[in-house]
Amino acid sequence: MKLQFLGGVRTVTGSCYYLEGRNFRVLVECGMFQGPDAEAVNRRLFAFDPASIDCLFLTHSHLDHVGLVPRLVKEGFKGRIITTSPTADIAELILYDSAHIQESDTEWQNRKAMRSGLEMKEPLYLPPDVDRVLPLFQRKQYGKIEQLCEGVRYRFVNAGHILGSSTLELWYQDGQGEKKISFSGDIGKKESPIVNDPVFVEESDYLTIESTYGNRKHKNMEDSIDELVNIIKTTFKRGGNVIIPSFALGRTQDLLLILNRLVKEGRLFNINVYIDSPLGERITRVYAAHPEYFDEEARRLFNIESRDAIRIHFTRKTEESMALNRIKKEAIIISSSGMCEGGRVRHHLKHNLWRRECSIVFVGYQAEGTLGRQIVDRSKTVEVLGEDIVVRAGIHTLGGFSAHADQEELMGWIAQFKNSPEIFIVHGEEQVALDFQTAIKNKFGYTTHVPRVGEEFEI
Ligand SMILES: [Zn+2]
Repeated sequence: MKLQFLGGVRTVTGSCYYLEGRNFRVLVECGMFQGPDAEAVNRRLFAFDPASIDCLFLTHSHLDHVGLVPRLVKEGFKGRIITTSPTADIAELILYDSAHIQESDTEWQNRKAMRSGLEMKEPLYLPPDVDRVLPLFQRKQYGKIEQLCEGVRYRFVNAGHILGSSTLELWYQDGQGEKKISFSGDIGKKESPIVNDPVFVEESDYLTIESTYGNRKHKNMEDSIDELVNIIKTTFKRGGNVIIPSFALGRTQDLLLILNRLVKEGRLFNINVYIDSPLGERITRVYAAHPEYFDEEARRLFNIESRDAIRIHFTRKTEESMALNRIKKEAIIISSSGMCEGGRVRHHLKHNLWRRECSIVFVGYQAEGTLGRQIVDRSKTVEVLGEDIVVRAGIHTLGGFSAHADQEELMGWIAQFKNSPEIFIVHGEEQVALDFQTAIKNKFGYTTHVPRVGEEFEI
């Protein structure tokens, strides 16, 4: 069987892997690329004929794993999209949101292009393209082995990253018998607040594994929670706001749960939390509808009684979001996008980043070249919505809230294998992936690769 890496290698976004066997062609993930040159990369022609693909597997619904699916369908894909039920539900929300962003961004760019006599652009995809994606979803449960076609079986197991996230195991026949490849997907941390802990895969001939934090160790969650309490208290005392750029999916729901717990425990009082992300609100509702995927604590905390502990305000309309700009102190504003590349968070940065009394708290990974990364790297000024803004607010990164396993946990995940898989390291920035490769070689001695875009392997 041929395995080809088409995206999400030597970088953290744009995941896409291609498998070609005797009687099937399969894609695993079809993610959007984010960061420098994103636009050109996302508009590139697919390296295969989308009409020839039998099925697409999705391990979870983050944009960097599902974001190009409408384009795939637009370009002729008619196969099945196989995933878990929450992933399908959330992907629907994520993709419509992304289509609306494409639409309005292109409109804005075209207005500019028109004025300067440049060529007009088509949006990458539009909401009607997402309409055509939805009937293709096939929802599967964790743990059940299913037949894909003759000689090919697969199973999803919980990856503990976000609601519905999975690791994909795929068995196939080659000349000598049955072999197995596993795709880790994004692997969560053990103490993640809502979803259950990741499940281990015990044997596999081949493994592609994520490496987002392949060379780092996270602080533990409790330390990060203490730090968050401290930041909120001191910021409020100074008379400022706390801005938390957060992915609408996963981190926002984790944060709500944590803040709720802090109020219930009496460590924070009378806090007003603004979720300024319509998508964040919709996804929170999907979470609430799937308690069967929660761990014990989340199931307790997501009930009605505990929801009253913090004052949550969802801002839907643009005017409501703009009204937040007038709040000068004692607000916690959670807004996307998580890497500050788009979305309403940019407005909150514009109004709070230059104020010494405010704090910006990063709870997720900031990819190279993003506005979030520039702020974390302590740039003196940054450009926000076309304006130079001086960075005076307190800048904090709380690694303990990450939805990704750190190096130690990734190594622990690999340590569960009873055989010696050949490993492909993906979904990590180049140096991180290479450091992780060294760590795996030193500890386990397994054959490892850090593939490049377009690289093919016979497996
Ligand atoms: Zn993810």
